[in-house]
Amino acid sequence: MKTPFVTREQLESLTQEFPTPFHLYDEAGIRETARALHQAFAWNEGFKEYFAIKATPNPSILKILQEEGCGVDTASYVELLMADKLGFSGKEIMFSSNNTPADEFVYARELGATINLDAYEDIAFLKSVTSIPKVISCRYNPGGVFELGTDIMDNPEEAKFGMTKEQLIQAFIELKELGVEEFGIHALLASNTVSNDYYPELARQLFELAVEVVEKTGVHLGFINLSGGVGVNYKPEQEPNDIAIIGEGVHRVFDAILKPAGLGHVKIYTELGRFMLASHGLLVTRVTHKKKTYRTYVGVDASAVNLLRPAMYGAYHHITNMDRPEELTEVVDVVGSLCENNDKFAKQRELPVTEIGDLLVIHDTGAHGFSMGYQYNAKLRSAEVLLQEDGQARLIRRAEKPEDYLATLYGFDIEK
Ligand SMILES: *Cc1c(COP(=O)(O)O)cnc(C)c1O
Repeated sequence: MKTPFVTREQLESLTQEFPTPFHLYDEAGIRETARALHQAFAWNEGFKEYFAIKATPNPSILKILQEEGCGVDTASYVELLMADKLGFSGKEIMFSSNNTPADEFVYARELGATINLDAYEDIAFLKSVTSIPKVISCRYNPGGVFELGTDIMDNPEEAKFGMTKEQLIQAFIELKELGVEEFGIHALLASNTVSNDYYPELARQLFELAVEVVEKTGVHLGFINLSGGVGVNYKPEQEPNDIAIIGEGVHRVFDAILKPAGLGHVKIYTELGRFMLASHGLLVTRVTHKKKTYRTYVGVDASAVNLLRPAMYGAYHHITNMDRPEELTEVVDVVGSLCENNDKFAKQRELPVTEIGDLLVIHDTGAHGFSMGYQYNAKLRSAEVLLQEDGQARLIRRAEKPEDYLATLYGFDIEK
């Protein structure tokens, strides 16, 4: 079971105002998670969360996080632009991009954002297109596989991100000669981890690396960025992460490794996206068709353009039928209307016997949901609605109109 953050009655009245499909976000939940994160890392004086904009690139959401003391992590021109226009100062902007276009480095430098260099080769590139800042971070990739206990969590060896240890040490030496005064180390070694051990294990690896790097280069290490990767329990039977336990786990390795090495001043940064937002978003959609062939299909008015994760990764997203009790069930595929057979929100899922007109919510769509959307089949992007703390709902992005889709085309006149 997963309990939606809205009641059936609330949702029915919302759909009077906002036609389905739309993404709905829960302000109270977002604030609660931000506060829990800050509480969990309160032991570290310089702690800062840089919310990964790509997870939920909506100014109204970013404003909430800003009010809760978060900065932003950016990786493109428009993400930088959004951060700037929302009033995030340079210190509150992390620029963790890779294969970076020259104009983005230039813009990041203009804003005074903290640049997180993905490649050793980027030093020369950065120098050639702009200047070397006083504060810089380098992204580490240890290669091999990332394991927790006996579980392989991810394959850094195959990841395009980051530099080897040797490159990172060489980068620090050269950057110091180029005038850098404060250094940081960054790594993202596994995605959507549902384990309280990921951050502590990552921290252990980065803290040990930090001690070695400082010994070898003599740089002033200002921060270690644990980045994103802390996940959510998309499946109801999964035990959700407990950020208090995670923070305490990082604290323990900090005291065991960094403090004795004289690095007790190091600030801990995070760039969480999914953990901050995923569970505070729902995709609200209505059942429009039902079809029986070799399987039973429940057709809804949302499609993969509104939520790509199931089609792209085979990701599980829990579905609640707001209009039916969980008693009488059937096994169905829940499908969108794209001319693509992977446009399925659920395959062979046991759900309450569904009727046309039922209101469904697809859970945990608050991060990497709307933002991964696209316009295949000339489908238009949906609206985003914020359920405020005071219980009122507010449109924070309107749905696209045909004119929006056609606006960039030459040789077609919609007025004709
Ligand atoms: C995507 C990304 C994040 C956020 O990842 P989540 O899995 O959403 O926590 C953080 N940092 C960088 C550099 C990223 O690319």
